[in-house]
This record gives sequence, structure tokens and C-alpha cells, in this order.
Amino acid sequence: MNHYDVAVIGGGPAGLAAALQSEKQGAKTLLIERENRLGGILKQCIHDGFGLVRFGEKLSGPEYAYRFQAPLEGSAVEKRLLTFVSRARKIDTGFELTLASGSGMETVRSGVLVLATGCRERTARQIGVHGTRPAGVLTAGSAQYYTNILGQLPARRCVILGSGDIGLIMARRLTLEGATVPGVYEAKQTPSGLSRNIAQCLDDFNIPLYTGRTVTRVFGRQRVEAVEVCSVNEFMQPITGTEECIPCDTLILSVGLIPENELAEKLGVPLSPETKGPICDQNGMTMVDGIFCAGNALLVNDLVDYVSESGENAGRNAAFYAAATKRPVRRFAAVNAGAGFLCVSPQRIDMAAVDAAGDTPVTVFFRAAAERGKTRVKANTGGKEIFNRTYRHLRPPEMERVELKISNVQNGEITFVMESEE
Ligand SMILES: Cc1cc2nc3c(=O)[nH]c(=O)nc-3n(C[C@H](O)[C@H](O)[C@H](O)COP(=O)(O)OP(=O)(O)OC[C@H]3O[C@@H](n4cnc5c(N)ncnc54)[C@H](O)[C@@H]3O)c2cc1C
Repeated sequence: MNHYDVAVIGGGPAGLAAALQSEKQGAKTLLIERENRLGGILKQCIHDGFGLVRFGEKLSGPEYAYRFQAPLEGSAVEKRLLTFVSRARKIDTGFELTLASGSGMETVRSGVLVLATGCRERTARQIGVHGTRPAGVLTAGSAQYYTNILGQLPARRCVILGSGDIGLIMARRLTLEGATVPGVYEAKQTPSGLSRNIAQCLDDFNIPLYTGRTVTRVFGRQRVEAVEVCSVNEFMQPITGTEECIPCDTLILSVGLIPENELAEKLGVPLSPETKGPICDQNGMTMVDGIFCAGNALLVNDLVDYVSESGENAGRNAAFYAAATKRPVRRFAAVNAGAGFLCVSPQRIDMAAVDAAGDTPVTVFFRAAAERGKTRVKANTGGKEIFNRTYRHLRPPEMERVELKISNVQNGEITFVMESEE
């Protein structure tokens, strides 16, 4: 049976970065991907805008992925494509993985795991859209796959529900391909996507965005013929009398992404109710020793640049962990997010690792729960301030990255607070 130091599950940007870093630290590394090509979701993202933070360039998804695939080709990372990890279990020496591929079932062992399995899209069933179930109800990712990978136009006239980035990008993409988009409908009062995508994908193409409105019903037998849209109240409930019927042949859903954590759950990894990904420390290690997590499996990211950063962090630390002969017991300080925060990651700081790393700052990401104007964000421990910054505005879709200098944590807690300055 093959035995590896580090096995990385998922060959998207997080997995690519993790595998490269792990191998760079000298670990015998296996990268497993269920599709026939590496790159994850980036393969179907042919628009530009990737890599601004990391490379200072506007790249398309495949171009961005290639920046990591090229060095991987020259590395000692062992790749397994068209291979699905169907099972993972803990054993004395690490983990045993069951792999399913065209050549059958196989078992491999690895000292350490990096979960980089990405995320999945919420479907119509998960948001309770009523009516018949004809063809033509698609998630934005599926519509993107049909258009960009298969070269097939999935819609002639489509309503988009949800103003997440993938929906906005598909509104523009389908318009460019000759389809009509009568509107993007968003139940919340503010859009969910990045401001640059609202401007470049909707405003530039005169596609209307209706906030405070949602799709309540789908009509059609074989194929979608129309949808009913309604205004919603502050509790997101449809308001009677505001119904409007919009003729269309397709309903595209862009109503949220959920970290893909089936394997993590089976391995007993505790998940965060806020991020829906594993609770982890600053090294990307989950609360189960030896299991690391990165990218959208850990926390749904708005920028792929941060996905690569989290993959590198997890891959590097996974290799260190695999090579360590003595592993210090982790001593956790909790990272608490006060009122106004949607989530914070990591949720724990391993103080043993902080002591070992000396002066190295710890990176923390957070999102605000609602749109805010000028806001001061502080981090305190036992009454001592360790971070203080004023933001001109904060928006839930935009993840903020901060670096903390941590030396001494009081009462085992670091608490983030927000204060409005308007
Ligand atoms: C449909 C969709 C479209 C997106 N479009 C954009 C966009 O336009 N711009 C943007 O900035 N961000 C976009 N994103 C966000 C994007 O997902 C991230 O920026 C980035 O691709 C996440 O990288 P990742 O490696 O964490 O996940 P992914 O790119 O999703 O990669 C995960 C990989 O893991 C593999 N995998 C999962 N489970 C297993 C298993 N059990 N065994 C083997 N392999 C497995 C999958 O096949 C996949 O290749 C999109 C996300 C989705 C879901």
C-alpha cells in the first residue's frame, strides 16, 4: 500500500497551493482530484479579475490556475486525476483513504490530510421555491459549466435569483451570448456580490437589479415558462398583492455557497455554525490533530488570492506537522467576534505555535454581518488592545484580512469588536 506524508484532497486553487507548499517543505505529497483536470472551479471561470492581490494582474480563472499548475508539473507531487476520495478514516499512523477511479477501488495511507474540497451551491429545494419542477432551473455554476465548458447556451430568457457573484457574472455572460436577462432579484435589501461585479456585470449591460424581491413560484410543465416574483418584508416573507409574473425559459439561482465538508464530518471534525467550515487554528489545522483544511472548504472566499494563501498556509504547516518527531500539545485561545460580525477565521489561536513562531504575525479574516459605513474594528485581550483600524465601509460579501501581533493572550481569549463612527 502507498504511504504519503501529506495527502491533499481537491485539486482547485487551494489544493494546488497546498500540494506545492507541502512538497517544497520536503513532504512526500499526494494530490487527489475527482475531475480530469486540475484547477477546480477556475476551469469554468473564463472572465478576468483573478489574481489582482497576488500577481497585480487581471487574469482569467484558467490563467490563474496555470500559475500553480506549471510549477506542479516540475515538482515531485504525485497527482491522481479522475479519482474520488470516497472514504477517510483515522488509523494509528495517520489516515487511510479509499480512492475510487477508473481502475477500481484502492486504499492509500497518509500521515496528514489537507481537505481542499471547495464548496457547493445552494439549490432551489434548499430555499423553498414553490411550483412545478420543469427543466430550466439551474444553479449559476451549472449554467456557467454549460456555457463555458460545454459550449451550450442553457437559456434564451432567464431570471436570476440572488445577487451572488456567480449570478452577476452569468447575467453578463448570457447577455453576451445573446440571451435576455429581464432582471436579477435579491430578497435582501442590499446586493450579495462584490461592488465591482454589480458595476461591470449589471450596470454596464443595463440589467436591472431588484432588491427586496424574490422568486416565489415556478410555472411550466416540460420547460420553465414563467416565474412569479414578490416583494418581501423585513422577515423575508412574501407580501401578498405584490406578485408579478415574468415570462422566461430559465431560472438561474445564485443563492449562496456552502463549504463541502462531507469527509470532514465523517472524520469527526467540528464545524463552525458561522462559516459552515471546520473550526481551525492559524495554521489551518482543524480541531482534529493532523487534519488541515483550506480554501472554500474552510470558509467561502470572495477572492481566489486568499484561497491560495490559505492553501499555502495549510500545505506548509501540514508538511511541518508530518515531519515533526515531537508534537507540542496545542494550547488554544478563542477568537471571539462581537456584535456586527458575520464570521471570523481562524476561530482558535494555538498559543504553543505562537510561542514557537516568535514575532510572526497571525492572519485573521472577518466579514461584517451587514453593510456599514465608517466603522472602527478593534481586537482586545484582557483589556489590552492588539488591533485598531478604521474602515470607510464594510460589506458582508467582502472579506477583510488583518494581521495580529500576538504575544500574550489574557484569559485565553481575543475579542473583536465593531464601533460605528458615523
Ligand atoms: C460555481 C462557482 C463559480 C465561481 N466563480 C467564481 C468567480 O467567477 N470568481 C471568483 O473569484 N470566485 C468564484 N468562485 C469562488 C471559487 O470557488 C474560489 O475562488 C476558488 O475556486 C475556490 O478554490 P478551492 O480550491 O477552495 O475550491 P474549488 O475550486 O471548488 O476546488 C475544489 C476541488 O476539489 C475537488 N474535490 C471535491 N471533493 C473531492 C473528493 N472527495 N475527491 C477528490 N476531489 C474532490 C473538486 O472536484 C474540485 O476540483 C466560484 C465558485 C463556484 C462554486
